[in-house]
Amino acid sequence: MNETVLIVEDEPKLAKLLGSYLGQAGYTPLTVDNGLDVLPLVREKMPSLILLDLMLPGKNGIDICKEIRAFSDVPIIMVTARIEEIDRLLGLELGADDYICKPFSPREVVARVKTVLRRTHGSKRTPVASMLVLDEECYRATLRGVDLDLTIVEFKLLSFLVANSGRIYSRNQLMDRIYPDQRVVSDRTIDSHIKNLRKKMSVLLPDNELIHSVYGVGYKYDSQS
Ligand code: CA
Repeated sequence: MNETVLIVEDEPKLAKLLGSYLGQAGYTPLTVDNGLDVLPLVREKMPSLILLDLMLPGKNGIDICKEIRAFSDVPIIMVTARIEEIDRLLGLELGADDYICKPFSPREVVARVKTVLRRTHGSKRTPVASMLVLDEECYRATLRGVDLDLTIVEFKLLSFLVANSGRIYSRNQLMDRIYPDQRVVSDRTIDSHIKNLRKKMSVLLPDNELIHSVYGVGYKYDSQS
């Protein structure tokens, strides 16, 4: 496999721990502890994925992410110390591929790395997505040729997630899309719509979860992972 994962982390113990877990998983870890050194390293080593801590000496993760995105689509997983921060980061639309909150288990990080890498170079696999057909005019969705019988809200939610496949949205962001008139709804409303959507889809596609929960963050549609 020999894929390099660049670990941008200023806590030496944590960087070492991540490096050892990623190494055991077959990746080549490369660590850097100062924000200023990241860009030159990315250009030089062209890693397969970057684990990017938010708070760093020299330059912060947000600026680094923006600067990398100006020249590269390399997958980026942002690491933050506060769960509340993730909503704000999502709002900035940095183009990161996933978000992880500290404290995390190194195993979880390895799992996320695998998922993101599989998604980013897995585009040649059987497209489950092609089995899903959305008719925007009559709010009708069919999966494997069978009508999913969605409500309008469920259709809008699914259609938005599919159009932005692979990207993670918070409940608040989804609510803004589904209820643009700012009707007062609890963010649990989104959870219940998602639950119904999944139920309807799982009848026809029991082995593939297409709408994924991202713990502490929100949801995404992904037919690859
Ligand atoms: Ca830090």
